[in-house]
Amino acid sequence: MELLETMALEGHEQILAVQDAPSGLRAWIAIHALSPQPAFGGIRILNYRSERDALFDALRLSRIMTYKCALAGVQGSGAKTVVISNSINDRPAAIRALGRHIEGLGGVYRAGPDAGFTHDDQQVLMGETQYIAHFGVDGGMQSSGDATAEGAMHGILRALELRSELQIEEITVAIQGLGSVGFSLAKRFLELGARVVGADVDSSKIAAAQKLGVTIVPPSKILSTSCDVLVPCAMGGTIHDVSIPGIQASIVAGVANNTLGHDSQAALLKESNITFLPDFALNAGALIEGSHHFHTSENSCPQKIAEIGETIVNILQRSDDDKLSTIEAAFALASEKVITTKSH
Ligand code: NAD
Repeated sequence: MELLETMALEGHEQILAVQDAPSGLRAWIAIHALSPQPAFGGIRILNYRSERDALFDALRLSRIMTYKCALAGVQGSGAKTVVISNSINDRPAAIRALGRHIEGLGGVYRAGPDAGFTHDDQQVLMGETQYIAHFGVDGGMQSSGDATAEGAMHGILRALELRSELQIEEITVAIQGLGSVGFSLAKRFLELGARVVGADVDSSKIAAAQKLGVTIVPPSKILSTSCDVLVPCAMGGTIHDVSIPGIQASIVAGVANNTLGHDSQAALLKESNITFLPDFALNAGALIEGSHHFHTSENSCPQKIAEIGETIVNILQRSDDDKLSTIEAAFALASEKVITTKSH
């Protein structure tokens, strides 16, 4: 892989390779576009087969964050930190080392939480850097799952208005992954009167969701379960050529980053009369909340998060008008916004 060539093709401006031998920290910090506004992006800590896989994840996720900013009307660009968890031998020391690198960037990058980044990690990170993105009322870094779930709920509800005749009480929502976002989304739809089916691989998450009123199915059955809205809320890439034929939902709501194995599968979903709600539009709630805090010091912005509903309507209309897949329509809308912003 020619890294600089790949960066040039995808528009990345800076990739930092970060390692700290005593703690076993090995990480990539990818900044897609340097701009007068900070680059926003979460810290993902996962097991990767190779540093190349981790680099690809950082490149892909940071680029999509720029489009996410554009669609969400956020002033800023995209970034991502990807930490290879399997090489860590002293986690607090590794997070401290990472925090020093983020601090060293001087604020061009604001880090938020992402998959695998725990509450303990947040506390350690905040001891080393001021440049974080998601503050809570107590001044600490807050969980972003609620903001993401709130935005996704608005997007799904607007899509249902456009694409379904059913009332919310007649709707079944199936959620793959009942973690931070999935649990919060399940709670919201149950409160609205919908039926919620869910799956997880973690027994503690299953127990908590059952207590809430979620009907549990095995993880291997969730993607093909009978439902109106299917919400992948675990890891990305679960909607692909093999899983699509089994899907019974009329809407697939992308909450997991990179929900589709490949962007072209949005066309396959469209051919199967399934409406796909692109993840980089639907899951922007935490980005909106984090950047709002950065620009105003206010902790919440429910109206701005609710605007995700309008963004979804615009994407579905553009997809219908121009006969595009919803991913193509979302990229078209986002690209226009990026170009407009740059030309001012
Ligand atoms: P999380 O780690 O809290 O929850 C993920 C859940 O999925 C866990 O409970 C895990 O046990 C479960 N899971 C893993 N594999 C599974 C499988 N095969 N079948 C069923 N369940 C499985 O993560 P989260 O913060 O809720 O994020 C979920 C997804 O949403 C991720 O893809 C993340 O990148 C994306 N996302 C999150 C946010 C946010 O604010 N947290 C924002 C944007 C996008």
